[in-house]
Amino acid sequence: MNDQSPLQPPVYIDSPLAKYWDESVSKLAAIEYREIQDELRERHRIYSLLLMALVHQNWNGNKRKNEGEYPWREKQRLANDTYRGGDYYGHNIGSLAVDGIGEIIDFDFNHNDLFNSSVEHAESRLIRRVFSLTQIYDNWETREPKDLPRSTGYSTVLSSVTIYTSLESCSQCAGIMALGRVKDVVYLQRDPSMYLIGNILYNLTENDLKAPYPIAAENFGFEYFERLNNSYAEFKREVKNKPFHILSGKKDDKSPSITSFLCTDNALAIYEDAAKEFLSYQTNYRDYKSQDTAQPESKVLTNEQCLIHAKRFFDYAISSGQRGTPHKL
Ligand SMILES: [Zn+2]
Repeated sequence: MNDQSPLQPPVYIDSPLAKYWDESVSKLAAIEYREIQDELRERHRIYSLLLMALVHQNWNGNKRKNEGEYPWREKQRLANDTYRGGDYYGHNIGSLAVDGIGEIIDFDFNHNDLFNSSVEHAESRLIRRVFSLTQIYDNWETREPKDLPRSTGYSTVLSSVTIYTSLESCSQCAGIMALGRVKDVVYLQRDPSMYLIGNILYNLTENDLKAPYPIAAENFGFEYFERLNNSYAEFKREVKNKPFHILSGKKDDKSPSITSFLCTDNALAIYEDAAKEFLSYQTNYRDYKSQDTAQPESKVLTNEQCLIHAKRFFDYAISSGQRGTPHKL
């Protein structure tokens, strides 16, 4: 090898990339673990349960349209020999944005099929909407131009926002969240095909462009995380013997796709358990207020207020939540 090896990092010498240049990939992809206190664990649990309840409420497993056989969906079969769900707008993946005081800003779903696109993911749709909402926080007619507050620019807009997403983010969504300066991203299931891109981006960014800190839900004892991961591993093993979809005249769908898994009875049962827990949940740390915020302390919601707020949001989302875009209403 000569001295001009392309493996030298000349232009990145002062960047985080240089720090990892001679390290193993495992170091680049691993995230420094942060202990989460019980009170904050509960707060993450409340929003994570809400998100699973929203996905459960909007469940649709007809990924290969409402025809043919779905051997993994016997419990979703209806009397007329079709399956629960109707038209398929996108995958059973949702996201929720929560601000620094604990108020929910909005939610969104994957809508790949509705837009006939592979990029209409829940997190990227949600980030775009949250940016739009921050531009209309005040009616344009209510003040004279000279009285409007000076723009603080967009770079800090989401710096107190946590995104809860039901599936670990892809490179598009991890990138959009980094550009949006999102504070933390909590994910409720691993996506092994996304090669820990959220962790890698977090390690490779710094200062004003720091990517959100990724929090796997297992870090706050969210048992649905392991259940979903194990159930998906089983689906991956078994789908070659038991196809996801069978339609006469076509090749059986035996793909170990994670979005196919997210249509199955096994996945639905896990989401159903979480939805039930959400509806009956009572706080153990009712007076706790998050410390990890730049917000005025008087405005920060307690865990009990978070739970009331989350349940109200759920009622709103299932009755008239047109601001977010659920799969069906
Ligand atoms: Zn994505």
